[in-house]
Amino acid sequence: APVIGVLALQGDVREHTAALAAAGADARPVRRPGELDLVDGLVIPGGESTTISRLADVFELREPIDKRIADGMPVYGSCAGMIMLASEVLDGRPDQRAFAGIEMTVRRNAFGRQVHSFEAPVSVAGIDGGPFHVLFIRAPWVERVGQGVEVLGTVTEGPAAGRIVAVRQGNLLATSFHPELTGDRRLHAYFADLVRAAV
Ligand code: GLN
Repeated sequence: APVIGVLALQGDVREHTAALAAAGADARPVRRPGELDLVDGLVIPGGESTTISRLADVFELREPIDKRIADGMPVYGSCAGMIMLASEVLDGRPDQRAFAGIEMTVRRNAFGRQVHSFEAPVSVAGIDGGPFHVLFIRAPWVERVGQGVEVLGTVTEGPAAGRIVAVRQGNLLATSFHPELTGDRRLHAYFADLVRAAV
């Protein structure tokens, strides 16, 4: 089974670990550079991107993660994790820094401050079985993608219809939503396949 780490600095680490295990991966938390060395892929969970950014420096993971990304390690970021993979962040805090990797502009807390969380259907290209019914929690959306970034999913209904919420660039995958919280394991299975193919 592919060994997939979950960046365990802050956020919904346990939910991602359980979802990856259910998708057939050997899932484990990553909190130290030595643990990062042992994984074939990495998930950056939902949580708070400003905190994850700060703790990445405190735990001395910033440089090793940047390097693994540059070397082609597959990474999947959900919500705050998507922000951590973006080359440009709007409405971010001045001191927050992403690992970057995906050539895109994301807007933090984009879906509106009055709406804390909501569900919407999202179809994801390359994943069969119908639309995902996903959860957005103070989620970012993608306002611009560069060349080489594939748009995998957009919101199909409601006030945010047409907004880009799932993208892929090479081995990097990002979603605005939280499949780890809704029991739909198809996205984790898709990422586990991506990691298997990259090993
Ligand atoms: N609003 C959070 C941030 O800016 C993301 C929310 C989430 O991950 N559920 O990082």
